[in-house]
Amino acid sequence: SIVYLNGEYMPMSEAKISPMDRGFLFGDGIYEVIPSYDGKLVGFAPHIERMEQGLNAIDIELGYSIETWRDISETLMSKNDGANLGIYLHVSRGPDTRRFHAYPEHVTPTVYAFSFEIAPEPKANKATVKQYVVSSTQDMRWQRCNIKSTALLGNVMHFQQGYKAGNSEIILFNANNEITEGSTSNVYIVKDGVAITPLLDHQVLPGITRLVLLDILRKEGTIKVEERVVTMDEARNADEVWLTSSSKEIVPVVELDGEPVGDGQVGDVWEKAQALYSAGKYDY
Ligand code: PMP
Repeated sequence: SIVYLNGEYMPMSEAKISPMDRGFLFGDGIYEVIPSYDGKLVGFAPHIERMEQGLNAIDIELGYSIETWRDISETLMSKNDGANLGIYLHVSRGPDTRRFHAYPEHVTPTVYAFSFEIAPEPKANKATVKQYVVSSTQDMRWQRCNIKSTALLGNVMHFQQGYKAGNSEIILFNANNEITEGSTSNVYIVKDGVAITPLLDHQVLPGITRLVLLDILRKEGTIKVEERVVTMDEARNADEVWLTSSSKEIVPVVELDGEPVGDGQVGDVWEKAQALYSAGKYDY
């Protein structure tokens, strides 16, 4: 496939990055993944805004405008095959001459982007949706999970813990038994018809799918929403549990730690929310 590296397009096999790059040595960088279906990017502006917040948070001055990012993304879409592509954008602090923790001066950030094929937009219903079986564990990641850092070892180790036990995702909770998020997704629960998702703070990545879904549900008004602390006990007693991410959209969890969620079936509220989400009535 054709990738973008520091202003140029080239075959992936020709893209070369210094082994002294701080992204490689320290995981010192920020990334995004943006889905596109039939050539249309979903949530492009909020994804770029989140990346800019991440770059600001770690003092990387890049200065790419949203138009530049859109041009890179659309060029990758036109140079690569596939109607539905995920666009991966990555900015690291760049290559240093030595390994020293302090942010180096006069280093040019490394900008890398590639596309990968994704499944068609999941316009799923109860009968066709993948049913998620998940476990849970205490969140052992760092205290800055709102930054979409390329340093994902904490997430990777948590995901692997669930994966090797046969689960499709793992839900994380803090020392107070409050849900933070999944290792690769945000969490919603449904109780008595209300969709409830944990508040955003330093423990949680501000997911774009979470945000778009909240906004659609608020605009439509047929499903009530709440952003507040959600405990694991509430999840265990919930009628429904959902996960959200750009690659999954909204998926239903039918089993949590070996116990059925609600009646163990995909829920009615999920089906309504998914239909509203995929209706494409609003532009993001
Ligand atoms: N939390 C984590 C830890 C994630 O890796 C992701 C996926 N990027 C999400 C939440 C969901 O975010 P988004 O909806 O923006 O894909």
